[in-house]
Amino acid sequence: AKKAGNAPVQWFYNALEAELRYRCEMEMALRDAVAKDALEPYYEQQVDLDSGEIRGFEMLARWHSSQFGQVPPDIFIAIAEETGLIDRLSEQLIAKALRHAASWAPHLTLSVNISPVQMRDPWFAQKLLKMLVAANFPPQRLEVEITESGLHQNIAMAHALVTSLRNQGIKVTLDDFGTGYSSLGQLRRLPFDRIKIDRSFVMAMGEDANCRVIVEAIALLGRGLGLPVIAEGIETPAMLDSLRGMGDFKGQGYLYGRPQNATTTHALLAERGLL
Ligand code: C2E
Ligand code: CA
Ligand code: CA
Ligand code: CA
Repeated sequence: AKKAGNAPVQWFYNALEAELRYRCEMEMALRDAVAKDALEPYYEQQVDLDSGEIRGFEMLARWHSSQFGQVPPDIFIAIAEETGLIDRLSEQLIAKALRHAASWAPHLTLSVNISPVQMRDPWFAQKLLKMLVAANFPPQRLEVEITESGLHQNIAMAHALVTSLRNQGIKVTLDDFGTGYSSLGQLRRLPFDRIKIDRSFVMAMGEDANCRVIVEAIALLGRGLGLPVIAEGIETPAMLDSLRGMGDFKGQGYLYGRPQNATTTHALLAERGLL
């Protein structure tokens, strides 16, 4: 009877151990991938919604592991943040992306995502500038996307970072706008260049009238503050239609195409005469 009573506990420990082992193995595989510089930047189009013209690309990290297959960035970025791999991983990807983007038409921008953990590095802006110089890429063409969730821990540090990036001519976007606890507070406290409406709002616009109202309000807010707005997660012509009616802004999403590797992106740009 005693043994039977312990069975669920034993099962729990086994499951926990398996989970930990899986996680440990993934961490080792990621460490190895970073050591080999094996992560790949993919690119998602950012488009002018009125004209449909490409204005630039957002770089999104991709990791294909021989052991785990294609691992979603949400997962490996979190592991990289917890294990101190994020700085190196991100630097490798940004360096590659700058080299790729240097061959695009000179009016096209490159957006990169920065983890809250990287924002704690006082040398971050300096390192970025060095990479720009090494790649001969103008800072004015680079946009850094910062998520709201990263800004709460240390607002003074975030302010210093945003200011020094902007002083170099780099644009700073408040990413995932509307999903944090104090979106409006962040806008007041930090000098952003643009706002990105989170895809959860854009994607729910069709079924949920409230979401439409929220997106409209963000569009208005952006206009009032003089901050260009970009909408992510545009999947259908209907979503595009609604957004077009709200003002003149940029957007991105599967309607325009999934993120692609450098070679496919290069071919697309060649086809459009954008090299
Ligand atoms: P994010 O910055 O919000 O990036 C947008 C995510 O939405 C990407 O997912 C993109 O593939 C996906 N997406 C784009 N258009 C659509 C659409 O129309 N419908 C749907 N359902 N999804 C769409 P992904 O590539 O899986 O990246 C997830 C998150 O991982 C990113 O969210 C970003 O926070 C993080 N991430 C990716 N690459 C990096 C990186 O190099 N550094 C850091 N720090 N974070 C990264
Ligand atoms: Ca326009
Ligand atoms: Ca982003
Ligand atoms: Ca988002």
